[in-house]
Formats: sequence, structure tokens, C-alpha cells
Amino acid sequence: MHRDFDYVIVGGGMVADSAARGIRERDETGSIAILGEEPTAPFPRPALSKKLWTDPEFTVENTALGTDEDTGATLVLDTRVTAIDTEAKQVTAGEDTVGYGRLLLATGGHPTQVEGLEAGDRVVYFRTLGDYLHLRELADDKPRVAVIGGGYIGTEIAAALAWEKCEVVLVHPDAVLNGTKFPAELASAFEALFTDAGIEIQAERAVVGGSSGLDGVTLAIDDGSTLNVDVAVVGLGIEPATELAAAAGLTLGDDGGIVVDEHLATSAPDVWAAGDVASYPDRILGRSRVEHVDNATTMGAAVGRIMAGSDETYDHTPYFYSAVLGTRYEAVGTLDSTLETEVVDGPEDGARTVHYRDGDAVAGVLLWNVSGEDAEARDAAREAIRTGRTDRVSAGSSA
Ligand SMILES: Cc1cc2nc3c(=O)[nH]c(=O)nc-3n(C[C@H](O)[C@H](O)[C@H](O)COP(=O)(O)OP(=O)(O)OC[C@H]3O[C@@H](n4cnc5c(N)ncnc54)[C@H](O)[C@@H]3O)c2cc1C
Repeated sequence: MHRDFDYVIVGGGMVADSAARGIRERDETGSIAILGEEPTAPFPRPALSKKLWTDPEFTVENTALGTDEDTGATLVLDTRVTAIDTEAKQVTAGEDTVGYGRLLLATGGHPTQVEGLEAGDRVVYFRTLGDYLHLRELADDKPRVAVIGGGYIGTEIAAALAWEKCEVVLVHPDAVLNGTKFPAELASAFEALFTDAGIEIQAERAVVGGSSGLDGVTLAIDDGSTLNVDVAVVGLGIEPATELAAAAGLTLGDDGGIVVDEHLATSAPDVWAAGDVASYPDRILGRSRVEHVDNATTMGAAVGRIMAGSDETYDHTPYFYSAVLGTRYEAVGTLDSTLETEVVDGPEDGARTVHYRDGDAVAGVLLWNVSGEDAEARDAAREAIRTGRTDRVSAGSSA
């Protein structure tokens, strides 16, 4: 079967939702198709490791974003796009072809794999709603779980499982949890949140292989030891899903993403890319590929408007956030604890702003328990990175 749409979006994630809404800001009637591999309509992915565990009132039903109802987009789910033909202006999905006027690649990324450790009944590479539902079911038996990776997904899932009374072992490569990102004092405080919650931390260890059977999972550790658990959850980040773009001859960047210009256009005519998969020229940070929700939603809305005729450029420097065990942190730019750090207290009790100095430049800013609603603090962080000046550290600060 063949159908034509004015706009085709490949990938049914967070960018797809924002892009369809962005299109509708300028084009009320153009036809939109969203072709997504997951069986679920776009939903807020961060809820998978946060609110769905921490808020008993918040259920899977609450995650619906209402993309199709609000925009009239045709959602084609459970459908993997396997090829793009930029000359014929169509994509292939199974036996079908879909013609496009304008095409958006919003394919996100695939979870980074541990060699030899396959996803299965007891091994979850955590990314989708299906993964959340699967892990919930496993958690009901209160198993011993290894969470692999100390990033935001690993730490949030470890906390969620401990809350569910599972026996949790968090395996990560740093000497102290997030010690390569946070200044020593904050990294120690961060790690204490986890040990206080009863989570066993196995530091300076990387999982290099493993296998699972009916009885459990055996993980191979880089020091030659093994770790036996009932369940393993892997949260090691993603590899950008660029296979379609690569096969169609689009330019890819050194960061692995699809290269786009300031209008989020790829190297192929009438093809744009946005979100986790896009390597874009950030106005302040330089060329970047960002795997965070603020980028996905803001860039998604911008690319939708641009595809529908706006001549705007994407000028937003995104921030990242995580909330775990009562601590919320946000960041703009690069957090690298080998750089010189300046730590400023406030404005609230327990809040800190950390500047990471790289010579005269500021490479990144960490906002630790600074109010999540404080957009001014984020703007001040962006300004510090842009100018290298840290005298305007955050709203309300006296420094
Ligand atoms: C558990 C979890 C928690 C998170 N928490 C935070 C957080 O606290 N803070 C934060 O800043 N960010 C967070 N993120 C990151 C944030 O969710 C992502 O940055 C955002 O979802 C990226 O949007 P996207 O549309 O680019 O990719 P995605 O939302 O991943 O969507 C991409 C979609 O494309 C589909 N796809 C890929 N290839 C094809 C194909 N060939 N055909 C059809 N469909 C395809 C995929 O199946 C997927 O559904 C979290 C992510 C996860 C997984």
C-alpha cells in the first residue's frame, strides 16, 4: 500500500509529539503521519524512571500526551521504517511505502549494549513503556537486582527498585557515584543518599559480559569476578539511531548524530532531524548532540514550525535534570570534576551552583537543589558559559 502525507515523522517519541504541535502552530490543515516502532503513542519518557514509581496516583493512563487528538496526526504504531528514498521522497515500512512532502527523523537512540548480555525475561535495557511494565512485574517478587550504570537512568531506577523493597546492587565505574561529574563533596553526599536507602554500591566496576538463564543472571565484571543476581537492568545511555540516515547517505557527525544546520535541516533536501539523534550547532556550546528532554521538546517544536515554513533558527541551549531520592539537580554544558570547580551556596538552603572552569571559559554549570522552576538560574548558567563570567551566578544569589 502507498499513502502520501505533507509531513512524515519517523519515530513516535517525545520529539514527534512536539514537532506535530509545532507544525500545527503554522499549518492547520497539512496532513501529518507519525511512524513509530514502539506500540505506544508518544509519552513523557522521564516518567518511566520517576513519577510512575514515586507517585502512586500517577499511572500509565496519565502518561498519554494526546498527540493525535490534539494535532490530527495519523499515528502508525508498531511500525519500523526500514528505508528512506530521498529522490522519490518516500519511506518504506514493511510492505508499505509512505510519500512525504517534508520528512523529520526523530528516531532517538538504542540503549547501549553490554556485549553478550541479551535482553530477555530477566535482563532489561531500560527505555520504553514495555520495559517499565516488565520491570514492574519483576519487582513484584522483590528480587535481587543489579542496576548497571550510575547515570540518571541507573540511579533513578536503583532508587525506584529500593523503594519497591527489592535488594539492589548498583554497579558503576566511578570511585564515588557520579564522582567524575560532581565536586567531591556533592558526589559523597549523592552516594550517601543511595547507601542510606539500603542500596549496595559496587564502585569502580564495569560489567563486560553476562548471561541469563531460568534461575538468574550472571554478570562478568572487568576485574575478573562475577555477580549473580535475579534480574539485571542496564542503563548505560544510548547509541543514536542513525541507521536509516546513514543508508540514505545523510551526513553524520563525529558525535554519531545526524548533522543538521541551525534550521535543523539535514544534508538531504526536505529532510530534517531533531532530538537525541541530531547533531546541531548550539549557539553557546558549539556542535552538540543532547540526550535530554528539554532539548527534545524545544527542538521538536522548533523543527515542526520550520518544516511548516518558519525561517527561525534553533537558538536554545538545553538544560538537563534529574530528580532522585529527594535531590534534584540540573545542568547546562559539561560537568567534568577534573576541571576547577567554584561552588556557590544558595539561594535556597542546601542549594549550590557549581561552575566548571576551563581556563577563562566556563564549560558547564551544575544547579544542585536550586528550585526546578527557576528559569532565571538556568539563564544565568547559560550566560556564564557564554561569557565566562560567573558574577551573576543564579537568581537571588548574593555572590
Ligand atoms: C527512562 C528515561 C528517563 C529519562 N529521564 C530524563 C530526565 O530526567 N531528564 C532529561 O533531561 N531527559 C531524560 N530522558 C531523556 C529523554 O526522554 C529523551 O531525551 C527524549 O525522549 C528524546 O526524544 P526523541 O524523540 O529524540 O527520542 P525518543 O523519545 O527515544 O523517541 C524515538 C522513537 O523513535 C523510534 N524509532 C527509532 N527508529 C525507528 C524506525 N526506524 N522506525 C520507526 N520508529 C523508530 C523509537 O522506537 C522511539 O520510539 C530520559 C530517558 C529515559 C529512557
